[in-house]
Amino acid sequence: AKTWVLIKHFDGFPKNTNFELKVEELPKPKDGEVLLEAVFLSVDPYMRPFSAFRMKEGDVMIGTQVAKVIQSKNPAFPVGSHVVSRSGWRTHSVSDGTDLVPVMPEWPQDVSLSLALGSIGMPGLTALYGIEEVLGLQKGETLLVNAAAGAVGSMVGQIAKIKGCKVVGSAGSDAKVAFLKELGFDEAFNYKTVGSLEEALKKASPEGYDCFFENVGGASSSVALQQMKNFGRIAVCGSISTYNDTNPQTGPYPHFTMIVKQLKMEGFMQSRWEHKHPESIKRLMGWLKEGKLQFREHITKGFENMPAAFMGLLQGENIGKAVVAV
Ligand code: NDP
Repeated sequence: AKTWVLIKHFDGFPKNTNFELKVEELPKPKDGEVLLEAVFLSVDPYMRPFSAFRMKEGDVMIGTQVAKVIQSKNPAFPVGSHVVSRSGWRTHSVSDGTDLVPVMPEWPQDVSLSLALGSIGMPGLTALYGIEEVLGLQKGETLLVNAAAGAVGSMVGQIAKIKGCKVVGSAGSDAKVAFLKELGFDEAFNYKTVGSLEEALKKASPEGYDCFFENVGGASSSVALQQMKNFGRIAVCGSISTYNDTNPQTGPYPHFTMIVKQLKMEGFMQSRWEHKHPESIKRLMGWLKEGKLQFREHITKGFENMPAAFMGLLQGENIGKAVVAV
């Protein structure tokens, strides 16, 4: 099996020298075990901050993949079936099945299995739970989402449209803004070229925002917070603008605004609602098949390009979900 190992912890932005491609000898699967072959591997922003406390130098990079069962001594996972596995950055792995989730049995033939890592997987579920469980978004409300053309953000906007809301999104290129318009966002702007973020937010929704789905963090959050309506709700999903900081930022939020506007802000991780995943995956797939959800993927070919795909994601190269096809 080929693996990508973190040989040196990240210091600032990840570099090629943090990673090394290694070959690992795999044992033959024992009773109850399966041998997996990666088909699609996910690269996700969380790998950057989580590496600091979930990994030590010399560990295989953490991550999720869609894998095919190529040998099986576990009847729950027959040869030829597909699973979502937390095997990390590996081409092959042996598992006893405990960390495997079979890809939904009724997965339609015409839907790529890579979506199990994106719109119909963890990022899609994150969008759904952030909207329903954290924000409690209601019909007619106005929602703001940043990193809007990414895996989570693009789903947030579309689910909010399904719920009958006005959606405003910000993203880092004109091509991404065009994509948001295709998805049905009411307003979208390029935060890199817009000049004043405050003015852009006011123009997109002069009456302010009921809900803010926060993916980016840092100083721009303070600006967005000022544009909230009274009693607004903020789902803190991510803070990607801070993940490569060498010195942690402190105090990005103007607390006095939170008080006078009586805002509610809640951080969350999608894993809180793991018990709902099977039912939620069916709902997302249902919307996809009804044509209510569109998706785009940014597919990098070749396992050897995992670090490049990961670094590209952190630089905003992707429109939609960033995935590596083996
Ligand atoms: P995306 O597909 O959105 O990719 C990351 C995007 O972030 C880039 O394309 C880039 O888009 C944007 N970005 C990168 N650096 C910056 C920066 N300095 N300032 C502003 N934007 C930046 O990734 P995901 O959809 O997978 O994740 C989005 C967020 O959601 C992340 O913060 C992630 O950690 C979080 N998340 C949280 C989960 C949870 O359970 N809480 C689960 C999954 C994700 P652009 O060109 O627009 O800048």
